Amino acid sequence: MENNNKPVVNLISKPANMLKTIYTACRTCYSALSPYEIYNSTDDEEKMLTLIERVISSGHYSTIEHIQVSFAISNVSRACTHQLVRHRHMSFSQKSQRYVKEKGQFDYIIPPTIAKNEELKAKFVEFMEEISKLYCEFTEAGIPAEDARAVLPNAAASSIVASLNLREMIHLANLRLCTRAQYEIRTLIKMMCDELIKEEPWLKPYLVPKCERLGYCDEDKSCGRMPKLEK
Ligand SMILES: Cc1cc2nc3c(=O)[nH]c(=O)nc-3n(C[C@H](O)[C@H](O)[C@H](O)COP(=O)(O)OP(=O)(O)OC[C@H]3O[C@@H](n4cnc5c(N)ncnc54)[C@H](O)[C@@H]3O)c2cc1C
Repeated sequence: MENNNKPVVNLISKPANMLKTIYTACRTCYSALSPYEIYNSTDDEEKMLTLIERVISSGHYSTIEHIQVSFAISNVSRACTHQLVRHRHMSFSQKSQRYVKEKGQFDYIIPPTIAKNEELKAKFVEFMEEISKLYCEFTEAGIPAEDARAVLPNAAASSIVASLNLREMIHLANLRLCTRAQYEIRTLIKMMCDELIKEEPWLKPYLVPKCERLGYCDEDKSCGRMPKLEK
């Protein structure tokens, strides 16, 4: 079935003491105190943030790898999840097209460029219905779902649990919030960032397109948001 085309994203796990954990990791490198003494030494957020910002800006990224977050994601296309799973420092558990047999019309995502054109949208929907009929014909004939899925399109909707550490989260945001990234994964990553920023507002300056952190655009084709490096 056609759905509302918008990813559904929920942050389902993150450490409660994120700042304190990173602060402990940062200060352990430069302190005579034991990590646990450092952990119990302060609750002063401003003090912790000052150190954390200095350490991250100097590229000491291992300190933020201690933080793991997990997202429950649904209503995204297989094309989108395929882009997501290219990120090698993430862990995934995705709805299986082998074990979950489609019953009737499968859910699918219509790209907005197609959805806004009534005529093309109608053709798109009709084609999804044809695919569904063929898929059902195969499964009813005893073809296992793992083989019948060969006819399912990139547009088929999927669900995935994605976990990653904070270093990878910043990397993911820097790459995939860039306007060069495709709209659907850009939307998904923006929603993941927003979920996390809601809980940890201090992360906002880090969860941005790479040009905002670099101060320039390093892409061949620039959207103009930042000057190109040669300029
Ligand atoms: C706009 C855009 C267009 C794209 N177009 C294409 C395309 O046309 N075709 C295509 O195949 N892919 C494409 N990709 C995917 C891209 O090539 C990467 O596979 C994907 O973005 C993951 O990025 P990454 O390797 O930096 O990140 P991750 O896999 O998340 O890794 C994070 C970082 O860890 C380090 N790292 C990870 N693994 C290794 C390793 N084996 N060796 C050394 N260092 C490592 C690197 O520093 C890397 O940046 C595109 C991505 C974007 C954002």
